[in-house]
Amino acid sequence: MKASEIRERFLKFFEKNGHKIETSSSLIPKDDPTLLFTNAGMVQFKKTFLGQEKRDYARATTSQKCLRVGGKHNDLENVGRTARHHTFFEMLGNFSFGDYFKEDAIKFCWEFLTEELKLPKEKLYITIYKDDDEAGELWQKAVNFPVERIYKLGKKDNFWSMGDTGPCGPCSEVHIDQGENMSCGPDCGIGKCDCDRYLEIWNLVFMQYDQDENGVQTPLPHPSIDTGMGLERITAVCQGVQSNYETDLFQPMIQAVAKKAGVKYKEDDEIDTALQVIADHSRSIAFLITDQILPSNEGRGYVLRRLIRRAFRFGRLLGLTDPFLYETVQMVVNDMGGQFPELTDNKDFMARMVREEEERFSQTLDKGLIILEEEMEELKNEGKNTISGETAFKLYDTFGFPLDIINDVAEKQKFVVDEKGFNAAMKEQKDRAKAAWKGSGEKDTASTFRTVLEAGLKNSFTGYSELVSESRIV
Ligand code: ATP
Ligand code: MG
Ligand code: MG
Ligand code: MG
Repeated sequence: MKASEIRERFLKFFEKNGHKIETSSSLIPKDDPTLLFTNAGMVQFKKTFLGQEKRDYARATTSQKCLRVGGKHNDLENVGRTARHHTFFEMLGNFSFGDYFKEDAIKFCWEFLTEELKLPKEKLYITIYKDDDEAGELWQKAVNFPVERIYKLGKKDNFWSMGDTGPCGPCSEVHIDQGENMSCGPDCGIGKCDCDRYLEIWNLVFMQYDQDENGVQTPLPHPSIDTGMGLERITAVCQGVQSNYETDLFQPMIQAVAKKAGVKYKEDDEIDTALQVIADHSRSIAFLITDQILPSNEGRGYVLRRLIRRAFRFGRLLGLTDPFLYETVQMVVNDMGGQFPELTDNKDFMARMVREEEERFSQTLDKGLIILEEEMEELKNEGKNTISGETAFKLYDTFGFPLDIINDVAEKQKFVVDEKGFNAAMKEQKDRAKAAWKGSGEKDTASTFRTVLEAGLKNSFTGYSELVSESRIV
């Protein structure tokens, strides 16, 4: 079963059960300064949960574009290292706004997994919040789930919140046992480790509270349901593979990049990580630009810049010296433009912008890497293994090396970076720059995007670098 079919079946299943199919909202949350990016399906419904906005339906279902880079949910460092985390992913969800609650949420979930998708019941495990006995009882009563495979966990795993504030509540999650060969050792188990054996596939959140800045929780006007299941994970399960990257969502891109670089997937761990990071980041880059983000030195634009630079550097590790991401982002458009037509509208502009960003970074990457290598050589001779915050900051400031690239390079050679020192140097720089601050960078970025888009649509497009550099605010 292809991923597109799973997405379709999910939406149709919930439509059949009275849910309105809503389109995905943008990766940029609308009117919500508390959040850098949309990180879950419920984000577009936040005001509905809070009772501040009425919709003409009480049940909805979506396949939502999500990005988890920065903020409370940040998976950047996990990408390429686990088989289940991406920066960009699609979250399948069903929502009830004061309509059905726990029991029906559990029944729908069970029916979809075991009857629609025919997952083996004996491999499924359930977690519930430690104080939520009701959920445990409902799993047993409503769908006959065996009590010995229900685990009670604490706040970290089974109390969900979107960010530091906003709607939240206890949750119940479905995991699937991927087999002993995925185990991380004798201590492997649900709630005990974070490996990929017991893969978390679906989270059912019982939305009950609104949390304020002080952590105080007030009950929502109506208890509601918000669920989220990663399309990439459920696709891996249905396709019988143990990594999301082995599904049809990633394989065409991974194979194309491997071919271009003259390497093979699944022969060498480092090569695999590089191919996975490139495939992952290409999707985020394509979707971010489509949602009107430009590379810049702060805020959302900086996340985009980091992703482009990080992916480019992993390309270098594969021997790709020329720009190549401008091609991979076009593959994303070709593969996913059917479900997300907005991608197609921006295809040419996106390719040119990514190519120019790659060219700019390529010029400085080599110089910066030489400095970093020299520094590590010197430290090694002195018997030290910490790269100073000052050096890291210089690489960041002068050569445009995001900290995560410095960390990646350092870690590979068993060095650590003095991140505290880095942050202190950064703060100093910011304090100095404050005097020259000219306004909101995010606003600049949005208006720059329009200007660049218009320029990009004309034949006379000359590049966006001058325009972008105007919005530089450190
Ligand atoms: P994990 O514990 O694996 O990091 P999570 O508990 O952070 O996942 P939730 O916030 O509960 O995830 O999100 C709901 C669902 O979205 C998860 O059960 C999973 O299927 C999917 N999901 C979450 N984070 C990612 C990610 N970074 N990449 C792909 N899918 C994800
Ligand atoms: Mg997580
Ligand atoms: Mg989890
Ligand atoms: Mg979870």
